[in-house]
Amino acid sequence: MRFNDITGFDQLKQSLIAAVKVGQIPHAQLWLGREGSPNLTLALAYATFLNCENRNENSADSCGICASCYKYDRYIHPDLHFVFPTATTKQITKREEAVSSAFLKEWREFLKHKPYGNLADWAGELGAENKQCIIPVQEGRNIIKNLSLKSFEATYKVMLIWLPELMNVSAANAILKILEEPPEKTVFLLVAQQIEQVLPTILSRTQLVSVRPYTDAELIAVLERKYGMPTEKARQTALLANGNLNQALRMAEAADQTGQNAFRNWMRLCFKPDVAALIKEADRFAGLDKETQKGILQYGLTILRESLAFQHLGEAGTRLTADALEFVRNFSKVINERNLALLSDVFNRTYYEIERNANPRMAFLSLSFRIGNLLKLK
Ligand SMILES: [Zn+2]
Repeated sequence: MRFNDITGFDQLKQSLIAAVKVGQIPHAQLWLGREGSPNLTLALAYATFLNCENRNENSADSCGICASCYKYDRYIHPDLHFVFPTATTKQITKREEAVSSAFLKEWREFLKHKPYGNLADWAGELGAENKQCIIPVQEGRNIIKNLSLKSFEATYKVMLIWLPELMNVSAANAILKILEEPPEKTVFLLVAQQIEQVLPTILSRTQLVSVRPYTDAELIAVLERKYGMPTEKARQTALLANGNLNQALRMAEAADQTGQNAFRNWMRLCFKPDVAALIKEADRFAGLDKETQKGILQYGLTILRESLAFQHLGEAGTRLTADALEFVRNFSKVINERNLALLSDVFNRTYYEIERNANPRMAFLSLSFRIGNLLKLK
């Protein structure tokens, strides 16, 4: 990962680069940013830059071609260590063996394909979809062991811990000392999403790097340039995603599958209700992959939110393009104080059920009937 691979954030990148150049390299950093922000990707770009063999006074990014950059780019550098939440899987059934080093292959795939993914996305990649992922007590010892070895080739040894908020308390306690006084040329990069869940003892030993969410303009640019989305669609998706690139990508995928028209049609069928057509819709829903199913439900929640905004603030209060606004204008007529919370609740609950591998056909059908009933609440 290079800084150039990340759209926007010029000011932050410049200050990070400038600090490295003058040798200001805090040994324990907390990269804080909410889901869908580039906190993980920026931390990776930073680590790559830190170790680039061609880095000099004039560098504005890592070179991308030296031996270190080559290995960093593939996340295979021997002096780059990763610790992340794990769970037992079909292959690794003992909790004490289910540690980061056993899942490096899956982790590299995740970084390659879903660097903006959240914990549920990672659990999916790991093959531990229904399980609670944590950073177990064993990782404390592993971290100390890995860092006490002499560095193989890099200038700086990097220990990147993703989601330190999920660290077992004993594991956290075990690393406090090394976090405070790591071996020479060792850098901890803790990449967190929720600062209030990071243990205070860890927090107090780190220097904060705050990563804001993407702006709408940056998201549009990413969706257009990186994902080849047509301008209007990128604009619509970005407006609904509230700075969360992970959510934007998921919704875009769902929109490809269903389209706004399909969503409108579904709502119409629910309202009637047309049972035969809803059963057909449920079959179609069940045939989609899980991420897309979740994306459709997320889109439903977004439409509810926008309908509420439209009722209270009118057109100016919504984040919609003309086409979607037309739908929300009509849809908001059947949304009221009584059914809004209940509707959100059934969408949320179905989202949760899908995540927990409920039968998607049944979940969708039952959701459809509930929506039909709730839309008639006056
Ligand atoms: Zn390089």
